[in-house]
Amino acid sequence: MEEVRVRRRIVLVPVPAQGHVTPIMQLGKALYSKGFSITVVLTQFNRVSSSKYFSDFHFLTIPGSLTESDLKNLGPYMFLVKLNQICEGSFKQCIGQLLDEQGNDIACVVYDEYMYFSQAAVKEFQLPSVLFSTTSATAFVCRSVLASVNAESFLIDMEDPEVSDKVFPGLYPLRYKDLPTSAFGPLESVLKVYSETVNIRTASAVIINSTSCLESSSLKWLQRELQVPVYPIGPLHIAASAPSSLLEEDRSCIEWLNKQKLGSVIYISLGSLALMETKDVLEMAWGLSNSNQPFLWVIRPGSIPASEWIESLPEEFSRLVSERGYIVKWAPQMEVLRHPAVGGFWSHCGWNSTLESIGEGVPMICRPYTGDQKVNARYLERVWRIGVQLEGELDKGTVERAVVRLIVDEEGAEMRKRAIDLKEKLEASVRNGGSSCSSSLEDFVNSLKM
Ligand code: UDP
Repeated sequence: MEEVRVRRRIVLVPVPAQGHVTPIMQLGKALYSKGFSITVVLTQFNRVSSSKYFSDFHFLTIPGSLTESDLKNLGPYMFLVKLNQICEGSFKQCIGQLLDEQGNDIACVVYDEYMYFSQAAVKEFQLPSVLFSTTSATAFVCRSVLASVNAESFLIDMEDPEVSDKVFPGLYPLRYKDLPTSAFGPLESVLKVYSETVNIRTASAVIINSTSCLESSSLKWLQRELQVPVYPIGPLHIAASAPSSLLEEDRSCIEWLNKQKLGSVIYISLGSLALMETKDVLEMAWGLSNSNQPFLWVIRPGSIPASEWIESLPEEFSRLVSERGYIVKWAPQMEVLRHPAVGGFWSHCGWNSTLESIGEGVPMICRPYTGDQKVNARYLERVWRIGVQLEGELDKGTVERAVVRLIVDEEGAEMRKRAIDLKEKLEASVRNGGSSCSSSLEDFVNSLKM
């Protein structure tokens, strides 16, 4: 009789937000393919549409009664601090029960760096734990540096235009203003959360959704400073793509793309959290219309303050977008980026969007909104040289020029070549051994067997 192989369990603890759920579920998929069983522990404040795409995973929910209106009132950073306070006890209970029911076979707990409450339980039950960072290695380095600065004097530096334009010592080419400070909360509370996220406590390893062909020196910095193994297992969307969209995708845009010329379309999306002022939306609409290029624009419901969707925008908006534009509430982004009609991506430069764009060889217009997006935007423009960053006030002239530079001019064609070159390197890093994603995944899996 064939022997039934019992899979060892890995427990995943995601942050309930799109940009965090996507990569941790992809990591789960990669680990499942290596023979582990996967348990995902969700908080009651849950945006993960669990088992639809992940029927092989187990899902558990721990109590903790935070609501959407808490998120609105507290802002994301203080919300996370609260979530960590509330969930520490219930997570301990959950792990205790799992150990009782399943025997002592939890290979490790992989927790999102923002779910640091997980550490109390792993300490109590003496389980191996791994911190999973969903941002770039460079953003992790920046957060580590920021966690040790004096908030007051840093704020003074940031507000001085002469200083904020200068390169931050040791972090070339990042300037003071590129560091991941946040629009979502006062500097002090942001730095407080950062010092929690970069404190690896008893974690025995760190996994980063990145690869050395993008961030070799930042990864080396982390390997040196963190004193535990750092596994660059990424880009996860290539290594283990798994659909995990929390919003309904409007697929009609693919039909619209099918009717557009090769490489002509600028795709615009600002991810799952960024907001836009009405005046900026109008400048963009003018600039896009004047560029004469077709554009596919994701405007997420609730992303324009005081408006459910686009109903509060002036009549002028519909006129400007009607000729060449197509607007959706949420797009199948990977499919859009892969579409031959797409010539460029206007992005807020969230890390997932950045990796997805590079992974499809699509150059970018970078308009970061907050946090690590500023780091990614600077790297896109200055290190990988596949992006044009728009800084300062948005105006229609700048928007028009940026679109033309990217889609029409020779400069854009050069960026596209570099983006395709990077795409090929990323794909090779996922396929081959060496210092790549695939060998890091193997090394990590082997470390769990020891
Ligand atoms: N996304 C999507 N459809 C959209 C906009 C975004 O599927 O219309 C996905 C995108 O592919 C990415 C994620 O949402 O995987 C956004 O993550 P990112 O880290 O770029 O930004 P965040 O939402 O965390 O700010």
